[in-house]
Amino acid sequence: MASVQIRGIKKQFGSTQVIRGVDIDIADGEFAVLVGPSGCGKSTLLRMLAGLEEITEGEISIGGTVVNNVQPKDRDIAMVFQNYALYPHMTVNDNMAFSLMLAKKDKSFIQQQVKKAAEILGLTALLERYPRQLSGGQRQRVAMGRAIVRDPQVFLFDEPLSNLDAKLRVQMRTEIKELHQRLKTTSVYVTHDQIEAMTMADQIVVMRDGLVEQRGRPLELYDRPANIFVAGFIGSPA
Ligand code: ADP
Ligand code: MG
Repeated sequence: MASVQIRGIKKQFGSTQVIRGVDIDIADGEFAVLVGPSGCGKSTLLRMLAGLEEITEGEISIGGTVVNNVQPKDRDIAMVFQNYALYPHMTVNDNMAFSLMLAKKDKSFIQQQVKKAAEILGLTALLERYPRQLSGGQRQRVAMGRAIVRDPQVFLFDEPLSNLDAKLRVQMRTEIKELHQRLKTTSVYVTHDQIEAMTMADQIVVMRDGLVEQRGRPLELYDRPANIFVAGFIGSPA
């Protein structure tokens, strides 16, 4: 597990400032959900946590260590995206093994990690299948498997369920929360779905236009929204 501290973070693309001074604290083992309208900077913030985007100003610490200058591969972080493009020509096994192969881990370690992830995610019987032979939910599980083989301390999710139908989305919410608890990771989960935020979060962070409007426990935000924007966003399903 690892806590995450985001301090005075700003991000500029050219002359446009898209993150304008953000502070967020996420405790060890916490499930934090970032919500806010499209374009408010959620993905950019997540990408900075993963090291996929340079920080213009401010500091990010993971487990008490400033990671601004730590390469993505050296951060104890794994990211699950919305468009979890699996490699179509690779089996489930190889999709999950791929990042460890790139990192030149030894074969027995890779097999052990893939086996463990497959057991956790209920994919053991599907290891030799190709992505086209899987359902949407199974593909999403493989995407999570690719992340967990690395034993990350921090899990980042960027709208991982938005391509799934409503029923599957509800089921996957539960699975993701169980995974989070079982692996004892710290998670940062981006969504624009208020219901998802309310049901999954230990802490909700409401963003608007590159700033944090309010953060707190779901019921705190629901009962005591800081302003009309938060009230509207948390209170009314889209
Ligand atoms: P969200 O995930 O909340 O929808 P993003 O973080 O994707 O928002 O985007 C925040 C803002 O930054 C948007 O206005 C977007 O157009 C802009 N943006 C994101 N990535 C880039 C980029 N690589 N170059 C320029 N502008 C970008
Ligand atoms: Mg986004």
